[in-house]
Amino acid sequence: MVAQSQTQNYNVDERPVKSFGTPLPGLAEIADRLLGPRGCLFTFHRAATSGVWETLPNRNFYLNLDFLDALLSYLRRRDWDVVTMEDAAQRIRTGRLARKFVNFSVDDCYRDTYEAVVPLFRRHGVPVTLFVTTGIPDQTLPLIFAGLEDALLTRDSVVLEDGARSLGTTAERRALYEQLAKQWDTPDGPTHYSHFCHLNGIDEHAMHVKHAISWDMLEELANDPLVEIGGHTVSHSRISSLSDDGAMEEIEGCRRRLMARLGVPARHFAFPYGRAADCGPRDFEITATAGFVSASTTRKGLVGPDARTDRLPRITLNGGHQSLTMIDAHLSGMTAVLARALGRV
Ligand SMILES: [Zn+2]
Repeated sequence: MVAQSQTQNYNVDERPVKSFGTPLPGLAEIADRLLGPRGCLFTFHRAATSGVWETLPNRNFYLNLDFLDALLSYLRRRDWDVVTMEDAAQRIRTGRLARKFVNFSVDDCYRDTYEAVVPLFRRHGVPVTLFVTTGIPDQTLPLIFAGLEDALLTRDSVVLEDGARSLGTTAERRALYEQLAKQWDTPDGPTHYSHFCHLNGIDEHAMHVKHAISWDMLEELANDPLVEIGGHTVSHSRISSLSDDGAMEEIEGCRRRLMARLGVPARHFAFPYGRAADCGPRDFEITATAGFVSASTTRKGLVGPDARTDRLPRITLNGGHQSLTMIDAHLSGMTAVLARALGRV
């Protein structure tokens, strides 16, 4: 067993305390009649309970766990199968779309994946896919935004280059997070973060351990039949920006590392960022050469029998998603049509 963090505990026996809207009357039935059996792949990053979620400076990066709980119950009521990527890919490859199915994947993998997300899927008795960035448990990828958020959430003030900044309200914490995260979203981000930690007396290693998933946790999860382990690169690089060799090292290197540490021959991969500019035909080919039987993007869309398993669409659920009406829009393909119309590919 591994230590529990102080901030992200979630009692899986708690019932959702909040209602998440009534689905739009008729939309699900109409979609089922028009579209028939189809797949929908959802992805998200971190998760927190409603109470914690409200206070987070970067709350849109987190799915509200109570909403996820309500969503899993809703999908069961609407007769959707929750499946692994292995099952999804097989259904697509064999054209066996006899039933509606969804997959949930967690990208990157933080400590809350272990402490809160997997326990919730276990309670519902349905599988979840973890796309692991191996630099996180290897502690080679600094979690600069998690560390920044933690400091802004837990302190009354922080020291910046030009002096101290007091943090009285959630709005102030959120505004400063946005300002600094924007400044740090460059190749120099880790240097900015180290400097910030130095100014504020933050132990970078301890902060990493507080937020990262560890190999011990992953080992325990890999033995759970409801958990499927997949790859999400070594250092969370934008694959399209790398040379052929660099791309192969990120994709195959992560697969090698999962095998070495967990004994898991990972068969499914997800591209970091995942939009059209972040991964293309060359990258889909490299992923297959590296031994992955499927690769997922974050291009919106539903999955039908003609879907290509080397470039599957996925719908990102973030903190703004707290309505079952929005879920019905995803499951009916409406959001994908809208995204394409708006050029968000
Ligand atoms: Zn990612």
